[in-house]
Amino acid sequence: MNMASLRPSTSVRPRPTVEPTWQAEMRAAIRRLDVLVERLGLAPSAAPGVEAKFPVFVPEPFLARIRPGDPHDPLLRQVLPWPEELVSAPGFVLDPLDEHGGRPANLLRKYAGRALLVTTGACAIHCRYCFRREFPYGESPPNESAWSAAREAVENDPTVDEVLFSGGDPLTVADEPLSSLLQSFAEIPHVRRLRMHTRVPTVIPSRVTDRLLETLGDLGKPVIVVVHVNHAQELDETTAAALARLKPAVSLLLNQAVLLRGVNDSVEALVALSERLVEIGVAPYYLHQLDRTAGTAHFEVDESQGRRLIQELTERLPGYAVPKYVRETPGAASKSPIP
Ligand SMILES: *Cc1c(COP(=O)(O)O)cnc(C)c1O
Ligand code: SF4
Repeated sequence: MNMASLRPSTSVRPRPTVEPTWQAEMRAAIRRLDVLVERLGLAPSAAPGVEAKFPVFVPEPFLARIRPGDPHDPLLRQVLPWPEELVSAPGFVLDPLDEHGGRPANLLRKYAGRALLVTTGACAIHCRYCFRREFPYGESPPNESAWSAAREAVENDPTVDEVLFSGGDPLTVADEPLSSLLQSFAEIPHVRRLRMHTRVPTVIPSRVTDRLLETLGDLGKPVIVVVHVNHAQELDETTAAALARLKPAVSLLLNQAVLLRGVNDSVEALVALSERLVEIGVAPYYLHQLDRTAGTAHFEVDESQGRRLIQELTERLPGYAVPKYVRETPGAASKSPIP
């Protein structure tokens, strides 16, 4: 039991008396490189990681899907800071998408009809290829006053018909504040759909709580959930079961992946990912070309190779199992398809 629960609660919201499993799993996540390497039975020379500004953060349920003793494991590569992170490469910059300067700052309105709320700075895993590595907001608590400023901006802009909750990761927010947040946006009459972009259901499957499903079911508007899985090995029985629980509560369940060297840059890996997603009822939505964030050059796959991979997927898979290959271009009115 934590100390806070011994004190009288000053919050008006009911608090769970027992910490949910997923929150305990967040707290117990591995935050040290040496522990990560040791837990996987790797010799430090086989996995020469570096201490990076964007710290290691790997929860146990994700660790359990990494093959011990394999320094080339495609899941390990997503979370272990390799020395290449410290090497600068031309064209790889701090803020490749130039996303500063909006008002309010946590609401991005780049694309017609859609507004994206940076719900929280926290994530349930630290992915080494992510643009967030340059914005280590840390495990900052959600800022509810920033949420109400964003809500007001959406309320005053009738052109917004879809609100995307992104981050960080919106599902790192606890059930009660999350429920109030989603409800407050769902109540805006011109908002027709809500969307959540999250890596949590597959990183920490126990996050798919009954309370979450109840919240999603009570919103009265369609909810689209976009999960983020890069490799079929992430989808074991436990993650598949969590997605199967989530599915009936949402109107669309989609996946986005990032094309990553050493993780999924082969036809076999991408076919296996699409087939596994379809098997558990998730549609492959996007395959993103890597954003050129400083410290991620070792993950980049050439667009010409990306195109070849997509061509082969198109020949081997049904159309619904082939993700759209896209990149983000600063200033463009949508994600740009890579032809
Ligand atoms: C990706 C993104 C969206 C959503 O784009 P879709 O093509 O609809 O998935 C919206 N806003 C921002 C800022 C984005 O980066
Ligand atoms: S925003 Fe998504 S991709 Fe980036 S570190 Fe967080 S979970 Fe990983």
